[in-house]
Amino acid sequence: MRIFLTALLLAPLAALSAADTQGKKPNVLVILADDMGYGDTGFNGSKDIQTPAIDSIARNGVRFSAGYVTAPQCAPSRCGLLSGRYQNEFGCEVNTDIDKHGIPVGLRLFGDYLHPAGYRTGLVGKWHLGETPQCHPNRRGFDDFFGFVTGGHIYYCDQLLATPPPEKRIYYKLLERNGVLEKNTGYLTTVLGRECADFIHRQEDQPWFMYAAFNAPHTPLQATPELLDRVKHISDTQRRTYAAMVVGLDDAVGKILAQLKADGLEERTLVVFLSDNGGPTDKSSASNAPLRGVKGDTLEGGIRVPFAMQWKGVIPADQTIDSPVSSLDLLPTAMAAAGTEIPNDAAFAGMNLLPLLTGKAKAEPRTLRWRFPMRDLWAVRQGDFKLVKEWTRGQSKESSSQKQPDAKNNIELYQLNADIAESNDLSASQPEKRKKLQSAYDAWNASLPAQHTEGKASKEE
Ligand code: CA
Repeated sequence: MRIFLTALLLAPLAALSAADTQGKKPNVLVILADDMGYGDTGFNGSKDIQTPAIDSIARNGVRFSAGYVTAPQCAPSRCGLLSGRYQNEFGCEVNTDIDKHGIPVGLRLFGDYLHPAGYRTGLVGKWHLGETPQCHPNRRGFDDFFGFVTGGHIYYCDQLLATPPPEKRIYYKLLERNGVLEKNTGYLTTVLGRECADFIHRQEDQPWFMYAAFNAPHTPLQATPELLDRVKHISDTQRRTYAAMVVGLDDAVGKILAQLKADGLEERTLVVFLSDNGGPTDKSSASNAPLRGVKGDTLEGGIRVPFAMQWKGVIPADQTIDSPVSSLDLLPTAMAAAGTEIPNDAAFAGMNLLPLLTGKAKAEPRTLRWRFPMRDLWAVRQGDFKLVKEWTRGQSKESSSQKQPDAKNNIELYQLNADIAESNDLSASQPEKRKKLQSAYDAWNASLPAQHTEGKASKEE
């Protein structure tokens, strides 16, 4: 008994949870949306799109009002989330580079860290971290993979049933299961939601990690008549289709959560929902309100995303956390939940959020950084202040695809807790603050490898 108590007292916080005292490690479920706008969930104030399932994650746990990803674009953001490190450290900075070279061989990802703790790991959906054999999900920490390795996909799976299938266009490949192509029918988001539920249901005693990487609501804008009918109150046709895709995503999240409940796993599963980057408003009609900027920006609209987490019985419900959190925090948080040691050489840039979420610790000011060479953009946030080199300021319509207007650098300072929309530039009135943040960025930038600027324009983002 003495040994047991000593071990318990020395154990990480999560080991004190009801789940672990029953001898069970918690499951970890990361649900990732693609190009979903900050303002397009109910919990972030959407007025025209209802997302009851996604909202339930925030209601059962915590809504992060300042949840960030590490890049305003798909592949580099996913590199950061899955490695727990700033992807800039290892040259995965823009989609086109990652499409061409994939992620570095030897770079450990989420599943590689959870395998030693006894976890079974699965990826359902979009990979986008390289298409070469050494980058395949089954070789990068995922025991099970169902989905597509490319950066996007059409939604009507039936269009791929022709023989031979039209595989030349990148969004038109058959889905695969662990390397074997497979014919599927129906609406892709529904198919992926069903696969996620199946993964959960077929697991037995082994704890699991599932990365549910939906491509919705990324373009192409495609939705079923049934989904469109549920958002017929929206008059703008592009916004209506986008909204229908979000509703389809919410249905899939609802199916996943219902499976957790049916299998009695709600108190044994840490659930996270977030988007991989902000919405490309011009391309999809996504709304990043009340933020300024879009996908491709280091303004808040590009990097601050819908972000929520639940773990029933461990994380108290109905919380809103306004201090900044990052997708970089998910891996150290998951490892703490699993009660596993973080290796000394892991070099994670994030932090375990559980002490903050369980009231064991208060939020401390922290520094978050971004560098996006595709448009020579960057930003740094320290405490409530952010210095940002912006891209779209002054243009009449915010766009993710317009060219940089001129060579002039707009480096601006904002106090985000008082100015979430980045509308009041303080760079002239607070030169000392500006200088301090500039120094913080410069020091980090100098520590990184040279910027990867290959392929500045990306056709498929
Ligand atoms: Ca994306």
